Amino acid sequence: MEERSKNKKALSCCFCGGDMSKGKTTYTVNRRGYHLLIDDVPAWKCTQCDEAYYEESEVEAIQEMLREVDAGAAKVRKEAVRPVTA
Ligand SMILES: [Zn+2]
Repeated sequence: MEERSKNKKALSCCFCGGDMSKGKTTYTVNRRGYHLLIDDVPAWKCTQCDEAYYEESEVEAIQEMLREVDAGAAKVRKEAVRPVTA
């Protein structure tokens, strides 16, 4: 007897309702001024549409990292991009 709809043992994709499987994925960050790819981030991935879901701990770690990268990028960009003086 199957109880797929009743028993919520795994996450299901909120886009297509497909099954989610735990795996690793590349987290892509597109910020103002820089783009970042973080490989091997643990995530739930939809087996149907490939939509990825990250756990709170991963999201928090990435946010924390981005705060530092943001500060660093701002510094770099200030040095690299000189204001145009007429
Ligand atoms: Zn999906």
